[in-house]
Amino acid sequence: KKLGFAIVGLGKYATEQMMPAFKDCKHARITALVSGSPDKARKLAAEYGVDAKNIYSYQNFDSIKDNPAVDVVYIVLPPGLHAEYTIRAAQAGKHVLCEKPMANTPEECQRMIEACKKAGKKLMIAYRAQFEPFNLDAIERIRKGELGKLRMVTADHGRQVQPDKDQADTWRVQKKLAGGGSLMDIGIYSLNAARYLTGEEPVEVTAQEYSDKSDPRFKEVEDVIHFTLRFPSGVLASCTSAYSIEGVKRYRAYGDKAWLDLDPATDYYKHQMKIGDKDGERQPQIKEGNQFAAELDHMAECVMQNKTPKTPGEEGLRDIKLIMAIYEAARKGKPVRV
Ligand code: NAD
Repeated sequence: KKLGFAIVGLGKYATEQMMPAFKDCKHARITALVSGSPDKARKLAAEYGVDAKNIYSYQNFDSIKDNPAVDVVYIVLPPGLHAEYTIRAAQAGKHVLCEKPMANTPEECQRMIEACKKAGKKLMIAYRAQFEPFNLDAIERIRKGELGKLRMVTADHGRQVQPDKDQADTWRVQKKLAGGGSLMDIGIYSLNAARYLTGEEPVEVTAQEYSDKSDPRFKEVEDVIHFTLRFPSGVLASCTSAYSIEGVKRYRAYGDKAWLDLDPATDYYKHQMKIGDKDGERQPQIKEGNQFAAELDHMAECVMQNKTPKTPGEEGLRDIKLIMAIYEAARKGKPVRV
């Protein structure tokens, strides 16, 4: 059985990564589109076999409640709009899959969780890396003790944000729509990885930030941020993100017996693992898998089997709370306990 998904926001990620992934899904299919651009929506509806009567605008979106072809609303809008559309979807009686970062503030996240709870609907945050085979393999090796006792994690995510060249980057430099800068958008991968690699929640954060205020990209949002996380077991994670460097999406976990490196770690299609110990380095061969389809199928299965998603609203909220603590630590120049 396949559940019907409505795609809200037909931007770069939705059209280039997620919509094509539905062809590999066992339990999810696209049955509706929500867009501010009727021409784009009609074209994509024809391409994906979506009935033209299931095209909605942002204005008439709430009438999706009368459409039994839609089980799940998948929100792929800028983060500043996630809360509004999640709440409207829940009030329309639909389950919600929402892109990361969950929202701009913990208060918004809380309202999203409450709206879905009140409506008796599932809420999942689209942390695709938690459905990606190399990342899952890394987690399993660490849990089985292959690295010995875990001591440190390092994680870096960066790229050149190009609002002049890439339409999808225009909202990324606007605080109201993006919530923040590199930390919110891609540093969240470093943060989330440090949490899923350790399997622990940090108790303290420190941070430093640097943004060249003469660069028009960084008038409203931060560029470079370096943060550390202290975990209860003693593991220290050292993480970075930046919007002014060439592409990096890597992490490394260090145990007292071996280290494990993923570079790229959080790419769409290409991953590479290395493990090193006193005897040298090796590259375990792991099969690439469609993380996007796995994520969509997981959402559908949770609805069909009435299960809590692996990455529920609470998971999104945890990262947003930590991001706020990281910003606070950077502002104050002091550690913040969480
Ligand atoms: P995008 O700008 O290409 O897409 C956003 C869409 O929202 C556009 O179609 C735009 O028209 C629409 N929109 C509606 N109202 C808007 C408004 N008031 N202002 C601006 N846009 C408005 O951006 P994107 O890169 O596709 O990102 C969309 C979402 O997906 C974000 O939440 C982003 O964090 C997330 N994302 C996730 C991943 C991932 O790997 N999980 C990757 C990229 C983006």
